[in-house]
Formats: sequence, structure tokens, C-alpha cells
Amino acid sequence: MPTQEQVLESLRSVIDPELRRDIVELEMVRSIEVHDNGVVDVIVSLTTPGCPIRSHFQTGVAQAVRELEGVSGVNVSFDVLSDNEKAALGRKLGRGSLPEGALAQVRNVICVGSGKGGVGKSSVTANLAAALSAEGNQVGVLDADVWGYSQPRMLGLGAQRPRVSAERKLIPLSALDGVKVMSIGFFVEQDAAVVWRGPMLHKALQQFLEDVDWGELDYLLIDLPPGTGDVSMTLAQLLPQAKFLIVTTPQPVAQKVARRSAEMAAKLKLEIAGVVENMSGPIFGEGGGSLLAEELEVPLLASIPLSVTLREQSDAGVPLVFENPDDPAAQALRQAARGVIALTPVELPVMQEPSPAAAPKPAGMSLPMA
Ligand code: ADP
Repeated sequence: MPTQEQVLESLRSVIDPELRRDIVELEMVRSIEVHDNGVVDVIVSLTTPGCPIRSHFQTGVAQAVRELEGVSGVNVSFDVLSDNEKAALGRKLGRGSLPEGALAQVRNVICVGSGKGGVGKSSVTANLAAALSAEGNQVGVLDADVWGYSQPRMLGLGAQRPRVSAERKLIPLSALDGVKVMSIGFFVEQDAAVVWRGPMLHKALQQFLEDVDWGELDYLLIDLPPGTGDVSMTLAQLLPQAKFLIVTTPQPVAQKVARRSAEMAAKLKLEIAGVVENMSGPIFGEGGGSLLAEELEVPLLASIPLSVTLREQSDAGVPLVFENPDDPAAQALRQAARGVIALTPVELPVMQEPSPAAAPKPAGMSLPMA
């Protein structure tokens, strides 16, 4: 019969294909139990619940342990690393942390993403901000949809420009009843097309996180560009504890596209917190959101009906939740906000220094305070 130590030693042959280190070194082996009948139980901790490399670990662990003398069977099960353990893993991987800085007072970072444009990701973000704020939270919105920024318009901030504080920090604009908003749209001419290349983008996002005076926030919502790209990569690197919310429309095709962004989030080790189905009803159908949520093993936070008033309010620059909280679409959005609150502990995220190998060197355009 092998000892626990011998089992642990054998698990050094199981390599995380993405992090390229063994699971013992990564401290992902949660527990080992050797029973009298030769059956060994191993629990492996994953970085995210829907980890796509789960079966890789399952096979690897079972094979490695079965080779030990006296082992008659292997049970492999999984749990998820806590936020603290994930942060420790980030440090171990040499990402280095920057606990001070603007985001030190931000309790939860929620990235709102979608597989493609036009599914209502920005509308959901603006309304979630209003709903979270109405529940008594301090809320910030970072519009990182650099190519299709729409938060200034949806939150009624038109042509205003942020000021720079005495500490040379950008002061976010205030929308609704005190939601803090920052958007690339504040720095470009109205409707101007912005050409962003990787390094510039990285630098701008880093500045939005570091050099904006966000102050104390319960929630910082980040409106991501659709799809999988540079912005998500940068944010995942800077904010490994951010949670990811996926907005999808109900049709099967949209769901397939949304799944891709979920896979990207998993690859980047961002935790997927839940799915929001938008535009459900007679035209697009319903059910795609719950299928996606089931597949990803995360909650469906809400199913928001197709609603003319929701669109009209977006166009008018006042989110529906703020204007008419009892409208059916607003109620669904408020339900999504309550789901977000239920999913988020009161821990402070830690900002990470991007690893030099993975991050492009910041260069190019700077925001006004730099
Ligand atoms: P994205 O950020 O995914 O590109 P937007 O939030 O900009 O999408 O929404 C695209 C368009 O759809 C906007 O005109 C918006 O007002 C409208 N829209 C969003 N959600 C709904 C909904 N539930 N019912 C009706 N119109 C909606």
C-alpha cells in the first residue's frame, strides 16, 4: 500500500498544460486518502469550476496513482481554488502583486462579456450598475469596449470630460445617483473611430485601472469588447480575481458564440460567475441562456425580455432600471443584480503586475494625466 507521500510524489508527473508546471508544485492537490482496500481518493483543486482541462487531470492523476504498487482503484474528484489561493498561485507564477493603487478599495470586479456585438452587453452593464447602486452599493463602470464604447451615451454623459485631480488621477464622471464612469469615449471626438493596437490598448487599460480615482467601490463593472481579444487578455492578467459575466441572446447560434468567450475566460483563469440571457421572448425564443449556464455549470442570473422601453431608455441616456424599476425587463435586470450580489464575497481584489514575457511593452498613446 503506498503512503500519502508516495502518492503525492507520483502526482508530480501530472502537468497543467497551460501553466506548464506539475500539480504538486502548483499546490492544486487538495487531499489524498489511501484506503485499506488499496483504493486511493485524490481531490484536485481547479482554478475555475468549468475548467476545460478537467479530463486531462482526471486521466493523468488516475494513471499516475494506479502505477503505484498496491493500488486497486483511484477516485479523482475536483473542487475550486478560493480567491486567496488563486492570488497565491498568481504570485507563485511570478506575476507579482501590487496591493496598493487605485483598485485597492475596489471589492469586486465584474467583467461583462459576450461572444459577439449587439446582444445587449452594454445595456446590461449600464442597467446592472443602476440596479446594484439602487441596492445601496458603490458602483463604478469602466467602459473597456474600446471600439464600440457606449456607456457615455447610455448613462447620459454626453460631451462631459473627466478632470484630473491634484494627485494627477483622472476623476470618473458621475452618472445616475453617483455611479462612477470612465470610458475611452470621454477622450475622443464624438463618433471618431479609434485605432487601437495591442501595446496602446494595454497601456490605456492599465491607466484606467491604476490612474483613475475609483475610490471605494463595492462593484467595478467592466464592459468588455465583444469576442475574445487583447482587452480581455490584458484585464485577465491585471485582475486575476475578476469574475466574468456572459451575456447571450437565446438562439442556439448565439449560445455557440458565447461559449467561445466562456472558453476564453476559462483559459485565462477568470472565474465565470454566471450567464445573463437577453432579448428573450417571441422573436428570438428563449432557453439558450439556461443551456449555456448548464453547460458551464454556472447560474443563469436572469432572462431579460425583449423590451422596447429598455431600448428607448438606453437611447435616452437613462437606464430603464433607474427610470422605471418595475418594468418587467427592469425587474429581470434587478434579479441579475441580486444574483451578482449573492455570488460576490467581500474580498478586496489584488492588482497584478503583468508578467514581462506575456505583456506587450506599453508604448504609444497616453491618457491626459500621464
Ligand atoms: P452590445 O453592447 O452587446 O453591442 P447594446 O447594449 O449596445 O449591445 O445593445 C444593442 C442594441 O439593442 C441597442 O440599441 C439596445 O438598446 C438594444 N437592446 C439591448 N437589450 C435589449 C432588450 N432586452 N430589448 C430591446 N432592445 C434591446
